[in-house]
Amino acid sequence: MSTNIPAGLIKLGSIGVLKMSEPPVNGLGFALRAAIVALLDRAVADPEIEAIVLSGGEQIFSAGADVREFGTARTSSAPTLPDVIAAIEASAKPVVAAIAGNCLGGGLELAMGCHFRLARRDASLGLPEVKLGLLPGAGGTQRLPRLIGVERALNMIVSGQPVNALAVAGTALLDEVVESDVVDAAVAFARDVVVGKRAFRRARDIAIVDPLAEPFLQFARTNVGAASSPFPAPLQCVEAVANAVGKPFDEGLRLEREIFATLMASPESRALRHIFSAERAASKLPDVPADTPLRDVRRVGVIGAGTMGGGIAMAFADAGMPVVLLETKQEALDRGVGTIRRNYEASMKKGRLTQAQLDERIARIVPTLEYAALADADLVIEAVFEEMSVKHDVFRRLDAIAKPGAILASNTSALDLNRIASFVQRPQDVIGLHFFSPANVMRLLEVVRGEKTAPDVLATCMALAKRIRKVAVVAGVCDGFIGNRMVVRYGSAAGGLLMQGASPQQIDGALQRFGLAMGPFRMADMAGLDIGWAARKRHAAEVPGSQPRVAADTLCEAGRFGQKTGAGWYRYEAGKRDPIPDPAVDAIVEQFRRESGITPRKIGEQEIVERCVYALVNEGARILEDGIAARASDIDVVYLSGYGFPRHRGGPMLYADTVGLANVVRALKRFAAEPGAEAWWQPAPLLVKLADEGRTFN
Ligand code: NAD
Repeated sequence: MSTNIPAGLIKLGSIGVLKMSEPPVNGLGFALRAAIVALLDRAVADPEIEAIVLSGGEQIFSAGADVREFGTARTSSAPTLPDVIAAIEASAKPVVAAIAGNCLGGGLELAMGCHFRLARRDASLGLPEVKLGLLPGAGGTQRLPRLIGVERALNMIVSGQPVNALAVAGTALLDEVVESDVVDAAVAFARDVVVGKRAFRRARDIAIVDPLAEPFLQFARTNVGAASSPFPAPLQCVEAVANAVGKPFDEGLRLEREIFATLMASPESRALRHIFSAERAASKLPDVPADTPLRDVRRVGVIGAGTMGGGIAMAFADAGMPVVLLETKQEALDRGVGTIRRNYEASMKKGRLTQAQLDERIARIVPTLEYAALADADLVIEAVFEEMSVKHDVFRRLDAIAKPGAILASNTSALDLNRIASFVQRPQDVIGLHFFSPANVMRLLEVVRGEKTAPDVLATCMALAKRIRKVAVVAGVCDGFIGNRMVVRYGSAAGGLLMQGASPQQIDGALQRFGLAMGPFRMADMAGLDIGWAARKRHAAEVPGSQPRVAADTLCEAGRFGQKTGAGWYRYEAGKRDPIPDPAVDAIVEQFRRESGITPRKIGEQEIVERCVYALVNEGARILEDGIAARASDIDVVYLSGYGFPRHRGGPMLYADTVGLANVVRALKRFAAEPGAEAWWQPAPLLVKLADEGRTFN
């Protein structure tokens, strides 16, 4: 059968089997919806057909809406999903859903419109719409409570988590759970229905009689509202289910559509849908074809067992891959392996890992002092000290030992990857894999493409990222790649605010209320102020006069390195991480202002947010201009998954679109025009151009 026929109808005696076949997931796009309705009409009109089985085959039922249709007019072209479901539910001939694999979102709503449902035991049923800031908009909130009860329906709809067929066996949602061959079973079931062995029932006609429904809904309102702020969708899911309990079906359905439309227009849902498509888009490389043959990566080598090397080794071991971990000295190796073990033990204590899993993962990491042990690695990642001479030495040795075709990666944060590639005879095999700390936890991976990096090396690393459950974004070579290059501007903006009169707690507070997990000063205290201090000293030595003194230098000179020394921009009580404002810091800052001839002024919360976030946006625009990132949404992915940017804002670039680029440009021009303003406040030409043309980044 040709793949562009989205559904078919075959007759098995008196049963018509309507099979959806829209690869890859039977997404309920316009073509499939129209085909279902047309085939349903044909089956209903066919005098030989007495009952209908609706199936997606033995692999999948339907994963719901067609994401490729999102944001286009086709989503709302008739027949809409509610139209399709209404047609099925109203059918005079019984319709039996045969569910295998994923039956999610609109897929489950479609199944609930059928009069009977059979599922294979391993089928997965769920309504994940809330994860996109929405609610099920095709009757899901009205039919599910009627079929499985208020409490279970609410849990599924509010969490968005799918359940296994076995978990809902015995409810009216599933008439039967079968071991295999669900389509055969559904056909046999349909025959029973025809001969009158089964009562024909529509979900919409079921009355909810549950004395505990009201108290449970009240409990849910209180808890869900607080836990899901600032996202409106979870609480709206509760309200929609409450309508199912308290209002007639058609009224509940109408209100569900209304709430759906309101949520669809909310900035929070827009942000979540943006993230969803941005993460998918990030894995597509404009100039690397999707069918590029990949290199086989089974064995991994990691050089350096420090903070990053240890975490990277864990990330691969967690994904079931064997890792050789190399250090130069036994002591460093023992220390690194000890840290890995302690980290795994901590996970075990939290119940996230069993002893057997811990043993298995540790056993996958083989420590060594010998380069020869890396000879058969398919990928080697270097995470040694951030010094070009050390990288040079490591890559020279690696070149001598690594097998042909092995991918040679560097985890460098700031060094020139093209120079690193020049240390080997095979620069096409060199790539940057920039993990974030802790590398086994943080989802972000910047995949740094050197001038000579081969397309298949790039494609292989993007695929590998998925295996170790990272979201990967491709970055070009520049100082700081995408994330760190932007965060430097953000830090400078925060530093400027500090000098002009704001306190660390005021700046952190404003950005935390904006939604960031942690403000810049708390973040700096956590990361350690000494790292930036060392970098500034290094830069100053390389380019004299390039590093004007900053207040953080004075803090570091006083031994205030952040949390690890009990004091930084805040002070910390022993063993605690709560930042306590410290008058000693105020004194240092005030002295600094005096010495710089600055008269402090009062700074409002909005200005703090504007300066810090627009600094990110402006640098993001330059990163796009320079071709360091392929799309604005890639930048958002970096910021959301690596830097704690609030999800409900969708990333700095989407936020700028939301605010209006013209407004961003106007503010940047104002900041740039202030006396003594640094040159980078000048709005990036791309930003100005887009604003002038009334366009957006996304
Ligand atoms: P670290 O000091 O914790 O670890 C470096 C390790 O490399 C040490 O254990 C050291 O013994 C070992 N080492 C040094 N020279 C070696 C050599 N020639 N052969 C083998 N091992 C050697 O440093 P880190 O924080 O893990 O950083 C490592 C790399 O990762 C750096 O390039 C850094 O810029 C980068 N990075 C760090 C972070 C971070 O947050 N720490 C984040 C991203 C990238």
